[in-house]
Amino acid sequence: MKSHNLCIYNSMSRCKERFTPLHDNMVGMYVCGPTVYGDGHLGHARPAITFDVVYRYLTHLGYKVRYVRNITDVGHLEHDADEGEDKIAKKARLEQLEPMEVVQYYLNRYHHDMERLNVLPPSIEPHASGHIIEQIEYIKTILDAGYAYVSEGSVYFDVPKFNADFGYGKLSGRNIEELLATTRELDGQSEKRNPTDFALWKKAAPEHIMHWPSPWSEGFPGWHLECSTMSEKYLGTQFDIHGGGMDLKFPHHECEIAQSVAHNHAPAVRYWMHNNMITINGKKMGKSLGNFITLEQFFTGEHPLLAQAYSPMTIRFFILQAHYRGTVDFSNEALQSAQTALGRMLDGYRRLQDLKASDESTIDVSNLESRAYEALDDDLNTPVLIGILFDAVRMINQVKDGNAKASQADIDFLKGFMQTFLIDILGIRPEADGASDESSLKPYREAVDLLLQIRSEAKSRKDWATSDLIRNRMAEMGFTVKDTKDGVEWSV
Ligand code: ZN
Repeated sequence: MKSHNLCIYNSMSRCKERFTPLHDNMVGMYVCGPTVYGDGHLGHARPAITFDVVYRYLTHLGYKVRYVRNITDVGHLEHDADEGEDKIAKKARLEQLEPMEVVQYYLNRYHHDMERLNVLPPSIEPHASGHIIEQIEYIKTILDAGYAYVSEGSVYFDVPKFNADFGYGKLSGRNIEELLATTRELDGQSEKRNPTDFALWKKAAPEHIMHWPSPWSEGFPGWHLECSTMSEKYLGTQFDIHGGGMDLKFPHHECEIAQSVAHNHAPAVRYWMHNNMITINGKKMGKSLGNFITLEQFFTGEHPLLAQAYSPMTIRFFILQAHYRGTVDFSNEALQSAQTALGRMLDGYRRLQDLKASDESTIDVSNLESRAYEALDDDLNTPVLIGILFDAVRMINQVKDGNAKASQADIDFLKGFMQTFLIDILGIRPEADGASDESSLKPYREAVDLLLQIRSEAKSRKDWATSDLIRNRMAEMGFTVKDTKDGVEWSV
């Protein structure tokens, strides 16, 4: 275990708190995962990357982290307004697929996106549809405790009763009177005693193909229930961190809290962490606004709003340039500057690999590491950490360009420093622009090196015609060739 002073902002207490896990060297972390219908978009990328960094940092500190990220494949899918049927079920019915074929199709694509963004897989990825028995048992306990009731084959959580005993709305800061005043009576709510009540179990309409038997009806569980049930199953009745996007605070996480308190008479979660939202050119992302861009479209550039393709590492770096609790606005200008900044960072990382040591050192690396830990310990302040990494890149460039000297010890330190904080914790892949597979580029790099070797041999023979021809043709192709004291450097 590394000693640390990690403080995280707890959305429940609304302040930064020192992180002390329930168990000495184990951390339980649950993050609300994707609803697998449709391709991954930025709304999927931000929580995945945010909690990937939390996961990586806690692991780096020496904790054994059990990271659970669920897959919502039942109960919370956008419904077609008139049919009351969720989209997975509808697509499955229309295309004569098993609903699980639809789920698997989108899940595979989600995993592929996450891999490209260098998001590590969680320790456990449970499906809501695989935990129906546990959810039914969970409902029974809440019914026995008196905080739920059966109505027309469905089961509803009794929010006013819970509120009277334990208080409802602590996480989101909403109170029940306000909610009652603003909750509209929607179709189907007549089964409920109170408009604020939410479904634990829903009776399925006859055309609904995803349903399971239960003591109350053939039906399916309510969305909020899967997270309470699966977090308890894999992390216990109390666990350390629960994460998700800010939009999940209410009602989803508020309902999770009510369920777990009704179930265990104690809150399950010790630290609630929420990442902020992403806007596109200042507007909320939405299909109806025409600014809905999938991750695949970002990676290929095939969308009317995109001026070019952006590599997965550019997207990752861009998200990490903002603190996770701050908003992020995507625009071509912002992404292009993130791409340039990432390029500078990775150039520095590459130049470091063949830096030549001197007998003396004129750079000062002494406080880089303590500042980096300070930034991460301050509620995962990745923008500050990135600034410190750029300080290291400046030193690397000074040495490489002959404007400063570094000892072997300092070079070794810088290598370890960049590896730990840039590659391992921020999860930036060091390849060219993060988009291509380094091994497939190797022959091209070697060909360029060969060409430059021919040029320098030509120069040493004073064959200026050949040397100039190579130099000028390469410049036309977009290569920058630089003669340094250690030889020739090139970039595209
Ligand atoms: Zn959830």
